[in-house]
This record gives sequence, C-alpha cells and structure tokens, in this order.
Amino acid sequence: MNCPECDGNIKIPDDASNGEIVSCPDCGADFEISKSNGSKVELKQAETVGEDWGE
Ligand SMILES: [Zn+2]
Repeated sequence: MNCPECDGNIKIPDDASNGEIVSCPDCGADFEISKSNGSKVELKQAETVGEDWGE
C-alpha cells in the first residue's frame, strides 16, 4: 500500500481492522484504514485533531 502523500510504502497488517490508524514511516502522515466489502483496503487521511485536553 502506497502513501497517498509521498508514495512511500506503508505496511498494512493483514488483520488490520476498519478504522485503525497507520502512520507512514516516510512522511509521518496518519491514515485511517477503510475496508470495504471486507477485502479492499483503502487509506483515508486521518483527522489530526491533535491532543484535546478539554480545556
Ligand atoms: Zn508518506
């Protein structure tokens, strides 16, 4: 699976579950795993909201 940002190689675990977050080792971007039909895996740009400590 290639990083949509930098085309780097992102390793997706075989048992990765829908909604799991993976990070690109090259550019550090976070992506959310989106599985459709239980087989096709896509990467969605994860919402990087940052740490919200509720202040
Ligand atoms: Zn990348």
